[in-house]
Amino acid sequence: MQCFDSAEEARHAPQFFLMRGAVRPNFEVPARAASLRAGLRELGLAAAAPPPATRAELRAVHAADYLDFLEDAARDWVALPGAGPEVVANIHPTPEMLQQSSRSNGHVIARAGAHTADAACPIGPGTFAAAAAAAGCALAAAEAVRGGGAAYALCRPPGHHAYAGRAGGHCYLNNTALAAQRLRERGAGRVAVLDVDSHHGNGTQGIFWERGDVLTVSLHADPGRYYPWYVGFAEERGAADGEGANLNLPLPFGTADEGWLEGLGQGLAAIRRFRPDALVVALGMDASKDEPLNALAVTEEGFARAGAAIAALRLPTAICQEGGYNTDILGTLLARFLGGFGG
Ligand code: ZN
Repeated sequence: MQCFDSAEEARHAPQFFLMRGAVRPNFEVPARAASLRAGLRELGLAAAAPPPATRAELRAVHAADYLDFLEDAARDWVALPGAGPEVVANIHPTPEMLQQSSRSNGHVIARAGAHTADAACPIGPGTFAAAAAAAGCALAAAEAVRGGGAAYALCRPPGHHAYAGRAGGHCYLNNTALAAQRLRERGAGRVAVLDVDSHHGNGTQGIFWERGDVLTVSLHADPGRYYPWYVGFAEERGAADGEGANLNLPLPFGTADEGWLEGLGQGLAAIRRFRPDALVVALGMDASKDEPLNALAVTEEGFARAGAAIAALRLPTAICQEGGYNTDILGTLLARFLGGFGG
């Protein structure tokens, strides 16, 4: 299996994280990549270093004004009197404000509120370069599977919570969506996205919400008591041309291997019915029973079985890394998943 990784990703080393009103150390840290690399070494897999995604490539799924913001925000922020080291919004426009607004405000504080969904996506001076490097890995994985086979992209920061114009939940550029769109552009008539991260892939759902050519399937913990809180429910099926091309499979808290794999089986059945030409897997490992903020209880063996079940689709498959925050076991879980996949 071809693998892609970039040392540039380490330039994103966020500090800020707000949890239940308490400021905590951010856990989407470069040590995650080190753990994942150890998992690849365990399998004897070497990773190539592709170039970062260009602005033109990012425009395939992201809005121009959002990319401007990501590039400029850290510089403009530190110029503010008394600013902290990372961009963290202190106001978000409410639906009432947006409805009644007569002008767009270009101040960095206003832009930060408009282009971030929450306080879990601090932007530092290296964030954009790191996110573009991660996106470059996802695009390289998509290119690598054009003719069949599978490839893995070690994407950090992750991407599945990022919308076309908004960061959120440790995500800035939607690596998975970029890979899916790249596969479409390279001749795949229909592409399926399978997101097994324990959090709903809300950004990916949002990007393809009105698209019938990309099926988005997400298997995750019940958003009634878990991020992203407002979406991820089974009734959300897409709209317009995308009606029926979004499938959410929320699971009760504490769901272990059998329930998780049963949900995965439902997702795989939907993918088979869709008859895609290619697949993108959004591979988060935070469904693990050993996750610090665990909502699900999947074992190493569960990840190996998931890898085997997904490989049985026999589709060209680009696997993009999403979440998973226990750096002690992240690499082991990756090795078990890819080992099960046959990588
Ligand atoms: Zn997650």
